[in-house]
Amino acid sequence: MKLAQRISRLVTAFAVSQAAAAWGAQGHRIYPFHLGDIDLATPDNIIEAMNRAVAEGKTGYCPGAGIMPLREALAADIGQRRGLALTPEQITVHPGGKPVITKFFQALIEFGDEVLYPNPGYPIYESQIEFLGGVPLPYHYLPTDTGFAIDLDHLRSMITPRTRALVYNNLQNPISAESSREEMEAIAAIAIEHDLWVLSDEAYFEMRYSGTSTSIAALPGMAERTVILYTFSKKYAMTGWRLGAAIAPAGVSAVFAKLNTNNESCTTQFVQWAGLEALTGDQSGAEAIRATLQGRRDAAYELLSMTKGLRLARPNSTFYLFPDVTEAMTNMGIATMPEFAERALKETGVSFCNRLHFGTPQPGEDRMYARFAYSGLPVEDIREGLGILAEWIEA
Ligand code: PMP
Repeated sequence: MKLAQRISRLVTAFAVSQAAAAWGAQGHRIYPFHLGDIDLATPDNIIEAMNRAVAEGKTGYCPGAGIMPLREALAADIGQRRGLALTPEQITVHPGGKPVITKFFQALIEFGDEVLYPNPGYPIYESQIEFLGGVPLPYHYLPTDTGFAIDLDHLRSMITPRTRALVYNNLQNPISAESSREEMEAIAAIAIEHDLWVLSDEAYFEMRYSGTSTSIAALPGMAERTVILYTFSKKYAMTGWRLGAAIAPAGVSAVFAKLNTNNESCTTQFVQWAGLEALTGDQSGAEAIRATLQGRRDAAYELLSMTKGLRLARPNSTFYLFPDVTEAMTNMGIATMPEFAERALKETGVSFCNRLHFGTPQPGEDRMYARFAYSGLPVEDIREGLGILAEWIEA
């Protein structure tokens, strides 16, 4: 059987999960820092709202753009938090934030159009750009004292007349980078000068422990060219419910609704009613989730930053730490990231992703990094696992 050629351009799931599961199945204790999932329960009021919606028979098809009460609530909530005046016509509901990435490229790029996107970055951008016939232009980051900054000169140098869109993931997975005001303004200026569409992936906009988030869509001249990716996954611990939204100029939203009609028809109706409760009901559950993750961030940061040979900043958002592990590897005589990760798993049970999972390193890039997600295990396990890892690295 012959498969469509474009299938070869899709990424596959990380082998890290399989390796950790296989090692765990042999009876070994695993500390799963590779997972980007949350092990906390969805708040009760949201679960109850879903059960109510099912009992009330809200189980049929609904509009492809989403149910109107949820679109209205999203316009109010997202608009208020970003200083944007949004109307429900600008909102479409999707089964998660991830589908917004695909729909953005389906709606806005032609075969051969170039797309700028972050590397290291969330791997689905590159996968979907290539799958849909776009040309990927990965932009890079430079390490700073407080984290990472976008290499703006390099980004500018890649732009050609065929460049059509830019993916911007402020509060970034995997490196937790957050733009300064100047950096965000520079990105906006580039988008305006070159007339680019911008996908602003704001999956972690409210997953932060100090400071406030800013949306690039709120900068002058940006609302009309920006699509915001919004998700319920993180803030309300709803990763498996599959509920997200796109905020876009009304004309683009109409296209997204049409794509929905042609793909999933609509997002599960009773899940949307639960989403309405998430946005408009009691927020104490979301606050507890955020506080729990902050405790985990503090514990994970404390242990990793005390480990000899690791270097990292303490991010104010997301649930990832991205230490530079180069010195530790050199001290241990380990040359490659895959070997470091495999030996860590087998000798300590600590499982993590590494820089290579988030795009091809740039020419000359010689530092090595690991990504520790602290969203999937309690503080006691974080302390225990990273304590064992530190002993192993320092031995
Ligand atoms: N964008 C980023 C940067 C992410 O890290 C994730 C999830 N890990 C998503 C989008 C998609 O999340 P979801 O589909 O669960 O909303």
